Amino acid sequence: MSGKKGKVQCIDNEILEKLSLTNRNKFLNYNLMSFLDSIHLQFLKGAQKFFENFEKANYITHNEDFYEWMPEIGNNGYISRLYKYEDIDLNYEPHGMTTEFMKILAMDFFDPQLTMAIEATTVSLNSILLHHDDFKIRLKAIKELVTGKKIGCICITEPERGSDAVNMQTTCEKQDDGSFLLNGEKIYQTNGSKADWAVIYAVTEKNKGNTMAQFLVDTSWDGWTAERINIPWTPRMHLSKEYFVNLKIPPECVLGKPGEGRSHLFEGLNLERLFIVCLNTAEAWNAITHAVIYANMRKQFDKEILKYQGVGFPLSDLWAQTTSLTLATLNICKMIDDKMEQLGTLPKDFNLALGTTASQLKFLSAKLSERVVYECANLMGGAGVCDNTLMHDLLGISRLQEIGGGTRQVQSYIMSSALRQLFKLL
Ligand SMILES: Cc1cc2nc3c(=O)[nH]c(=O)nc-3n(C[C@H](O)[C@H](O)[C@H](O)COP(=O)(O)OP(=O)(O)OC[C@H]3O[C@@H](n4cnc5c(N)ncnc54)[C@H](O)[C@@H]3O)c2cc1C
Repeated sequence: MSGKKGKVQCIDNEILEKLSLTNRNKFLNYNLMSFLDSIHLQFLKGAQKFFENFEKANYITHNEDFYEWMPEIGNNGYISRLYKYEDIDLNYEPHGMTTEFMKILAMDFFDPQLTMAIEATTVSLNSILLHHDDFKIRLKAIKELVTGKKIGCICITEPERGSDAVNMQTTCEKQDDGSFLLNGEKIYQTNGSKADWAVIYAVTEKNKGNTMAQFLVDTSWDGWTAERINIPWTPRMHLSKEYFVNLKIPPECVLGKPGEGRSHLFEGLNLERLFIVCLNTAEAWNAITHAVIYANMRKQFDKEILKYQGVGFPLSDLWAQTTSLTLATLNICKMIDDKMEQLGTLPKDFNLALGTTASQLKFLSAKLSERVVYECANLMGGAGVCDNTLMHDLLGISRLQEIGGGTRQVQSYIMSSALRQLFKLL
């Protein structure tokens, strides 16, 4: 039997079998089949099948270095499905935000830490895609990232500038030949020490966000070093601290010249937050699926524990909230897909409104998924907190989601500023 393996078996064979990836996928599909159109349901099923086969064929126990799996995942078209990627001669169908959500659901049920790491590659590759201007090296980076041959990271946060990300300390200095020299430090980059390609933001004048530029960096260049940070809640994911010492960036790797970096940074943020919403929703479903299967099989006092109100009722409550979150997420995904299909881009006013919506959903979904995962683990008793299932991975990862992509408090700040703006319209 493949699937999550712990050091000591605590859950009996029959329940462990029932908790298989195939069964959990089935449970999810029964929940979603009436909401999804057939294209997305078929895509979801195809992605699930790929991960079921991949798990079986490779005897995966989810203790492995998942970065090694990326080329095969990429070869099968599951790194990013946001775009068609026709600029690099791919023709992904279906593609779009709803398809990306389906990909995240299928991948998260297989391995939540892998999914979070892949989304960091997706964010970096999409920010290159928006500004490739047909430069060979940029197209090469996109192709290598989307096919999983290479790993990407995005470098915004600095040791002294977290929430206050815009007022950066990392500097870029233009040279006579049009290249830039980069000096400074970044911290908490997902994939940092594993990354082959990095998208880095830096300013020509410290603390002046309006002088920000955006660069593409090949991490094998002199001047880049990265140290892995230990994040005990996600032990298989690499988060890192990077140092740039006279890191020379050629002109063809300037994705946004000084003055353009800030708008490029915000342009990517809405999608990044919506990816996190999809991740949070997937994590909540994954935990609920484990808890529902377990509670239907585990007996105490001679009865399945689901039949006790103390277990069945709170589980239903978590289920209802997760279904509502899913419907909201599907709705926003569809709105984005419709606009992209009609206009080929997201109109400015829609993108502006999306900023607040992304904050609202990121705020609510991160809080909900943390609670759902914790409560599901709690309802499973010892089985929920030991290392025999993915519950432990979900517990760790769902605790991080309120911080990455802008903290809970920063989302509140964005939302309260929007309330002020709306009031001023009256
Ligand atoms: C799992 C994970 C993955 C990440 N991945 C990446 C990545 O790939 N790339 C990248 O660049 N960064 C990444 N980050 C960094 C992340 O974006 C920052 O950690 C985050 O923006 C907060 O910055 P900070 O850690 O410096 O905290 P600080 O900004 O120092 O905040 C500390 C506390 O103060 C609060 N606070 C700060 N300012 C205000 C305010 N004005 N009002 C109210 N409260 C406030 C915060 O909410 C927080 O509770 C990641 C972080 C995590 C945890």
